[in-house]
Amino acid sequence: MTNRPNILLLYTGGTIGMVKDYKTNALKAFDFNQLLEKIPEIEQLNCNIIPVSFEKPIDSSNMNTSYYIKIAEIIENKYQNFDGFVVLTGSDTMSYTSSAISFMFENLQKPVIFTGSQLPIGDLRTDAKENLITSIEIASTRKNNKPVIREVCLYFEYKLYRANRTTKINAEQFEAFTSMNYPPLAESGVHLHFNNNLLLKPKKNQSKLIVRKKLDSRIVILKLYPGITETVVKSIITIPNLKGIILETYGSGNAPTEKRFIDLLKQAIKNDIRIVNVTQCAGGSVLMGHYETSVALKKIGVVNGKDITTETAVAKMMYLLGENLSKKDFKYYFEQSLRGEIG
Ligand code: ASP
Repeated sequence: MTNRPNILLLYTGGTIGMVKDYKTNALKAFDFNQLLEKIPEIEQLNCNIIPVSFEKPIDSSNMNTSYYIKIAEIIENKYQNFDGFVVLTGSDTMSYTSSAISFMFENLQKPVIFTGSQLPIGDLRTDAKENLITSIEIASTRKNNKPVIREVCLYFEYKLYRANRTTKINAEQFEAFTSMNYPPLAESGVHLHFNNNLLLKPKKNQSKLIVRKKLDSRIVILKLYPGITETVVKSIITIPNLKGIILETYGSGNAPTEKRFIDLLKQAIKNDIRIVNVTQCAGGSVLMGHYETSVALKKIGVVNGKDITTETAVAKMMYLLGENLSKKDFKYYFEQSLRGEIG
């Protein structure tokens, strides 16, 4: 037996494990076992790395709730035997996926670090090596014989973020993610510097891990824009079996005050559809009732999404709808921080 931490490295797909098909010039997933061959430096890390891979790796554009459950179950089954988990996914939907996983794991006591890359691992100028090596190092960092990170994070381009605070903001630059409403949890320079006061602290009584797998995806994102018609709003709120609407409003949570628009939302709420107000702005928070243009939303029972990202609002809504809560409880839990996702 060694005292080296055991790290499970799960490859689900994405650019990090892709190669160029020189006939078609398109990127396609390759055998994950070659990934470790491409980075022999990994052997130097002070941990035992066990790689596992989806049988058929996916581009993250094909991600869905069944894959969330698959990722969660792989981690759940290995939870006791491993000290940390690194999950490789495509960056395109990484914020959605990692955020959903953060809600699925209640009482998490071990690090789950999502990462990927903008360039394939075999590319000369690849960002994959640094992202992968540092993620593994973070997942194996321990203090007083306990993991330093005990939450779901996303590591990209020298920064470790709380996963459910991130958004992909760039399809070109290596710095593909940002977290506008919460500072990075760690930064990688000459040293790996953890911002200890920003990390999620586990509950005192070491509660048992609970894995929540009931996710309800009968939701929609309704983004407001000047000129949006009644027909559009009406057709959205009358989608059969719709359970929730993420309403992307302007600025600090503002929407048209037109009676017909408000009445439609009111009707949707009456029909047991949950509506959450999130801002279209990249940073800042919804302040319901701050302007006249959000007073009516508050009055009809729209839930305050505060400073949550749209990606996380989607994940949290799927999770809370799956829990079958009353209107009142849904509002109560949505407006509270469950995994550090909301201010
Ligand atoms: N299209 C890729 C994906 O999200 C991009 C990436 O891996 O970053 O799977």
